[in-house]
Amino acid sequence: KITNHMPTAELQAIDAAHHMHPFTANHELAAKGARVITRASGVTLTDSEGEQILDAMAGLWCVNIGYGRDELAEVAARQMKELPYYNTFFMSTHVPAIALAQKLAELAPGDLNHVFFASGGSEANDTNIRMVRRYWDQMGKPNKHVIISRKNAYHGTSVGSGSLGGMAGMHAQGGMPIPDIVHIGQPYWYLEGGDMSPEDFGLMRARELEAKIEELGEDRVAAFIAEPIQGAGGVIIPPDSYWPEIKRICAAHDILLIADEVITGFGRTGEWFGSQYYDIQPDIMTVAKGLSSGYAPIGASLVSDKVAKVIDSGEFAHGYTYSGHPVAAAVALENLRIMEEEKIVDHVQNEAAPYLAEKWHSLADHPFVGETTIVGMMASLALTADKSVRKPFKAPAGTVGYKTRERCFANNLIMRHVGDRMIVAPPLVMQKSDIDTLYERAVKSLDEAYKNVKDAGLMETAD
Ligand code: PLP
Repeated sequence: KITNHMPTAELQAIDAAHHMHPFTANHELAAKGARVITRASGVTLTDSEGEQILDAMAGLWCVNIGYGRDELAEVAARQMKELPYYNTFFMSTHVPAIALAQKLAELAPGDLNHVFFASGGSEANDTNIRMVRRYWDQMGKPNKHVIISRKNAYHGTSVGSGSLGGMAGMHAQGGMPIPDIVHIGQPYWYLEGGDMSPEDFGLMRARELEAKIEELGEDRVAAFIAEPIQGAGGVIIPPDSYWPEIKRICAAHDILLIADEVITGFGRTGEWFGSQYYDIQPDIMTVAKGLSSGYAPIGASLVSDKVAKVIDSGEFAHGYTYSGHPVAAAVALENLRIMEEEKIVDHVQNEAAPYLAEKWHSLADHPFVGETTIVGMMASLALTADKSVRKPFKAPAGTVGYKTRERCFANNLIMRHVGDRMIVAPPLVMQKSDIDTLYERAVKSLDEAYKNVKDAGLMETAD
């Protein structure tokens, strides 16, 4: 029997022999051995060597209320005993799905009063592709099927959601994107803005949407999808000019707006939803991750009255075995109850995020850091070889970021790298003392990585 108490090397060997890890070069992992996480509590993970690791990524941006909340375990156990599974197809429903749908309709901004459940963000975005196309079919516009997305966006990894995403490396594997999904530029000023001001650059990138609609013809474009703040792309916070212009363009051209809030939902920005942070009113919103704080796999499309009315007028030939899974729904509901009762969104807005921002921005003084950006509890910094210019390293993108992440890992801090940006998205329940620990470990890791990168002769800027 395999247990937490087995020697790490044995667990690693069995893992390498049988477990294919996502987004991992498994042959490298087999050579190095995966870090075996055995337990977690609050904001801290414990590994099989007994190391205590500060999780500044909340798992994969999802454990918003922190680890080890007994209430969620108890709700899951109770629900499993009462009704572990039933489907929501064919005229059936159950209390957890009813209650969670009602709760989401109450929390979501505007008239997003309808919920289509999935097991995660990828599935929910697949739902969205089909739903917006079906919407326009029903509206008598069957040619209005193109979805516009952005380069370097992340919307999931299934063939549909991976096509919505704009990750070139993913598209290169598995025949993506599928037809009628096109990508415009991202509002990433630091490396792409050239001599423009952030505001002018934000407007320019937003207007690529209008140009694309005009190129394709308004009668062909179904929807625009975007993360309010790109997460997996490197915590790319758009210039302030960006979202108002996107809003204007979608309205002017009768294009549905899908906000992918899988990361920005449920308090991450200091508002319940990133759409509120940017004052946008999407027609459809994708949620997952923080919906259950990662305690159970669940996602959803939150749908406006306007879209739901049309979709609900016939049968939408779509659904997942686990749409509205009762255990996952009950866990999500309990998670939202805790978030409200403990005023976690207020805690982010008034305590945790301002303190993290103060600490994070002070990292900008480090010689290795070109810029720091943060909204709520999602932050990133650009590593640089030369603070006086906004340019990438000469070494292939990610070389320096990877080395920096290795130092974070060695210093028991989970910080992620995207190319040569370092990112954090900690549990929302972090206290000031946790943020102090995050900061101290980040500084130590940056110091060490800076030295390593210099010693390796990599402190060179691309031409
Ligand atoms: N959308 C966004 C913005 C995400 O960040 C992610 C995952 O990171 C997804 C969709 C996909 O969600 P899942 O991994 O639950 O399928």
